[in-house]
This record gives sequence, structure tokens and C-alpha cells, in this order.
Amino acid sequence: MLEEFREEVRVWLADNCSESLKRQGPGSEGDARERPARDDVTRWFDACYERGWTVPGWPREYGGAALNGEESQILREEMNAAHAPAPLVGMGVTMIGPTLLEYGTDAQKAEHLPRIASGEVRWCQGYSEPGAGSDLASLQTRAEDHGDYYLINGSKIWTSGADQADWMFCLVRTDPKAPKHEGISFVLFSMDDPGVTVKPIVLIAGSSAFCQCFFDDVKALKSNLVGQENRGWTIAKRLLQHERSSISSPGGFGGGESLVELALRYSQTAGGTIADSDLRREVAAINMDAKALGLTQRRATEENHSGGTPTFVTSLFKYYSTELATRRSEASIRLMGTQGVGWDGAEFSAREQATTRFWLFGKALTIAGGSSEVQLNIIAKRVLGLPD
Ligand SMILES: Cc1cc2nc3c(=O)[nH]c(=O)nc-3n(C[C@H](O)[C@H](O)[C@H](O)COP(=O)(O)OP(=O)(O)OC[C@H]3O[C@@H](n4cnc5c(N)ncnc54)[C@H](O)[C@@H]3O)c2cc1C
Repeated sequence: MLEEFREEVRVWLADNCSESLKRQGPGSEGDARERPARDDVTRWFDACYERGWTVPGWPREYGGAALNGEESQILREEMNAAHAPAPLVGMGVTMIGPTLLEYGTDAQKAEHLPRIASGEVRWCQGYSEPGAGSDLASLQTRAEDHGDYYLINGSKIWTSGADQADWMFCLVRTDPKAPKHEGISFVLFSMDDPGVTVKPIVLIAGSSAFCQCFFDDVKALKSNLVGQENRGWTIAKRLLQHERSSISSPGGFGGGESLVELALRYSQTAGGTIADSDLRREVAAINMDAKALGLTQRRATEENHSGGTPTFVTSLFKYYSTELATRRSEASIRLMGTQGVGWDGAEFSAREQATTRFWLFGKALTIAGGSSEVQLNIIAKRVLGLPD
């Protein structure tokens, strides 16, 4: 049965995913800056959406295909093998959608999930504040009860994509007197609310991946409170598990050209092996660690006894995969020499510039979704059961 499904997926991908898209897909050798034709992107999205494959594991009523864990895994494997890019990405699909499936009311699911599956609504994450990053439960953004709605005042920082987003899922303090983990609620509101001000934070490279958001009497309807008032911390943690799981998804980051191919291309070899013995050992170790990580992630998926929902083990994978991606990038740059540190200019190919950018960006992934140190704390306490 599963093999039939695999064959069906292969045939379908061959019929529906164009060559221009495959050149941009996972593990592809294409020029990372080349844009596939717009029509190809639209056709690919529409075909996936029609099959429920923008959110394949979600129930059909919310736009999914109701695939089980094994089928979803096969779909992922075949899409990776075909270099087919994900038709839909973002916090809707990876974070708030799965969280609403578990904790949302029927009305919340019916309102929000289909619009995520269709790509109509983009979401951003209002967690971090200037004084609450790793110590997230210290957040100070207040929500005051006004009957059937809350009025929200405060600010959030490092909000990725807030300037493009339609809705925010946000952690707010609803009981300032309660112990810090117990006075937090999880609410949803529209970014069109007149009380929301979004200021992009311009980075040194000139781009702006995140924003600071200010809230002046922003209105969030009580019907958009997820879970119970003052019990938002549990939901916040579950969403972080989904976030960490997506950051560390196999094939997610650190793909591209193999380190051995880079060594060959940049003539770092002697007698068929990498000339520098330290670098050779490091490349071998990285390749073995990547293989071991992939197998361990696969085993964890197969052994997941919590019905497919992520657990604290996501911290382990988030920590290991982002640190490994960083090691891999460092090794790439060492193999490429000065060609690995080009920002622009004709003397650097598009692929070289993409490697430099990923090397720099990859470091951010060891911070986003909770820093590596914070993951180690969670692993110590929640996975290994060590004392506080
Ligand atoms: C690319 C990217 C995207 C992001 N997108 C979003 C977003 O969309 N929404 C959002 O809300 N936030 C977002 N963030 C923010 C992110 O969640 C925080 O940066 C992160 O939680 C760390 O918080 P901080 O920056 O305040 O650092 P701090 O908490 O000040 O930490 C500073 C350093 O101290 C270490 N440290 C802190 N506490 C401990 C401890 N107890 N034990 C050991 N070491 C510790 C940390 O590991 C870190 O190295 C994003 C961050 C990045 C890099």
C-alpha cells in the first residue's frame, strides 16, 4: 500500500513540478538567485493545493490531505529526491496551524486553518520582547479584559516578517500578579488593527528580516483566545516545539553541494583526498554526524508515541542540526578559501555568494526559536531529567 503511494507520488511529481522549480528545490545544484517562472510557481502551488499537499497531514475539511505519518514521510522523501520545493512555507503552516489543530476551538480552526492552507493569510510570531528573549516568561505586554475582547499594550521585538504578515499569534500577560508562567495568555489578532505599529529593523546587510511591533490599545476578540486565559504558557511551549521541529526538519538547512564536491572544485585535494588532514577529518566527521542525525530523526519519527505531536526531543534536534549546519558552513568556507567570502561582484559566482550568505545566516538559526544554550538547558531538565 505504502509502496503504491510512493509510486503515485513519483508519477505526480514528474507531471506537476517543472524543471525551473526543481532547480530551486532542496539539494538542487541550481543558481540560488535564479527565479523560477511565475506561472510555474502558480501552477505548482495550485496543483499541490488541490491535492491538499500544502498541508498534507491536516484534515481534509481544513484544506489538507489527511495523510498519516508514514505517508507524510514518503511525500517529504519523494519531494526531496525530486528537488521539488515546498509549495507553502511560513509560520502558518509550521507553527500556528499545528497548534490550532491541537488547542483551537472548532470555530478557530474553521476560521484560520483553511486560509493558511490556501496561502491567503500570513502569520507572525509575537513572543520576544526587549526584556524577554531566552527568559520568555518575563514578557510584559499587557492584555486588559474588556468583556468580549482584550486591549493589548506593549511591544514585541525580532518579529520575523511582521511587515508582511496579516495576523499575529501573541503572548500577553493577563494576570500581572500571578507567578510569571501562570499569568500568560495566547491570543490572535489582525495586524490591520489601527493600534499596531510595525517598524522594520534594518540589518547591517541592508535587508530587514525582522521588525519591532508596538501595540497601543490593540483589540483581540476573546473568540481569538487560544486555550484558557492565563494558561497560555503550555500552548506557547507546544508552538515552540513545532517551531524547533521545523527548523531542524531533515534536509531543511545546510544542504547544497557536498563538501567533497567543494574540495574537488576548489582543488583542495591531493591523490584523491582532501589535502589538509585536519579539514579532511572534519569533513568526514560532519558527513558521519549528518548521516547519524538523519537516521536518528527518522527513528524518532517512527517511534513517536505521542500521536505525531512533537515533544521536548525537538530541542535535541534543533540544537544538533543548527550547530551541525554551522560546522558544515564553516568547513565549506575553509574549502572555498577567498571564493567563500564574496558578498557581490563578478569575481564571485551566484553559488559562491549564496554559500557566503548561508554561512552568515546559519548562525542566526542557532538563536531563533530559542538559543543553543537554552536547548541544552531543556535537554538537561526535560529529556535527561537532571535537577534544576
Ligand atoms: C533569525 C531570527 C528570527 C527570529 N524571529 C522571531 C520571531 O519571529 N518572533 C519572536 O518573538 N522572536 C524571534 N526571534 C528572537 C529569538 O527568539 C530570540 O533572539 C532568542 O529567544 C534569544 O533571545 P535574546 O535575543 O533576547 O537573547 P538573550 O536571551 O538576551 O540571550 C543572550 C545570550 O545569553 C544566553 N543565555 C540566556 N539565558 C541563558 C541561560 N539560562 N543559560 C545559558 N545561556 C543563556 C543565550 O543563549 C544567548 O547566547 C528571532 C531570532 C532570530 C535570530
